[in-house]
Amino acid sequence: MSLLEVKNLRTAYHSKGKAFYAVDDVSFEVGEHETVGLVGESGCGKSTLGKTIMRLVDPAEGQILLKGQDIARAPETRLRPMRKSVQMVFQDPFASLNPRLTIWSMLETPLKVHGVKDPAERKRVISEIAETIGFSPSVLNRYPHEFSGGQRQRIGIARALILHPDLVVCDEPVSALDLSIQAQILNLLVDLKREFGLAFLFISHDLSVVRYFSDRVLVMYLGKIVEAAEQKTLWQTPRHPYTRALLASVPSTDPGKKITQKISGEIGKPGGPGCAFRSRCPLAVERCATDTPALRKMPDGASVACHLA
Ligand code: SF4
Repeated sequence: MSLLEVKNLRTAYHSKGKAFYAVDDVSFEVGEHETVGLVGESGCGKSTLGKTIMRLVDPAEGQILLKGQDIARAPETRLRPMRKSVQMVFQDPFASLNPRLTIWSMLETPLKVHGVKDPAERKRVISEIAETIGFSPSVLNRYPHEFSGGQRQRIGIARALILHPDLVVCDEPVSALDLSIQAQILNLLVDLKREFGLAFLFISHDLSVVRYFSDRVLVMYLGKIVEAAEQKTLWQTPRHPYTRALLASVPSTDPGKKITQKISGEIGKPGGPGCAFRSRCPLAVERCATDTPALRKMPDGASVACHLA
């Protein structure tokens, strides 16, 4: 059984009296100890998908199976135990930390809520997690504004891990940080994955970050998964024209190949009929305007939503 199984999930938003789907018929799984990367340009629905899985946003349709239990419509009383096993790390560490609480109180609250009654046990758990993220317990009586951006993200990670979750949803966890700090936080996440046996859903617009961190990658365009593959397969044999365009737009570290291509063309409209990428696709054919491509399995296990794949 997968740790997380998302089936035909749809999340709606409303504009001018009409409903649009920010997440449109999305299905995927995350296995135990697996890291699944979710990439796409900003506005493609990847953050909404993460928030829907966390039930910070309600889904319109579909299932979110956590260890086989559907939590898509579960009331708050049933969600509480689930919140222990799925935690989130947010993009903006400052906005996600309460400025009026010391780091100690922030880490202690979830332990109290989830029934760790013994103060000595809470102290032990907090000291242990502080050490794991490279903090001395003596700094935990400080407030968020007394820490740098990178340190605040470490605190956000500690808060996510304090209840020993099985799955962590990371929403652009390093994109607000300087490049050198990004590398430190990514290395910390890799170490924590190993130490705690965690699974991750790792959301990022940055393919180089996702490549570094993921076992498998999902590519999202206008609310839909257009390609899903093992990390190596995706980089060696990208099949969807959007995936190829995304890869071509990643800046090269080779000084001789610094030029990157931007994805041209107007972003299409979500929903059918037809392929939502056709307004930007160099390979579009007549059929692409009328038939919505389904996500089809390829012989090597990858899945692609393109008529020409
Ligand atoms: Fe391009 Fe057509 Fe494939 Fe869509 S279905 S990606 S428009 S070739």
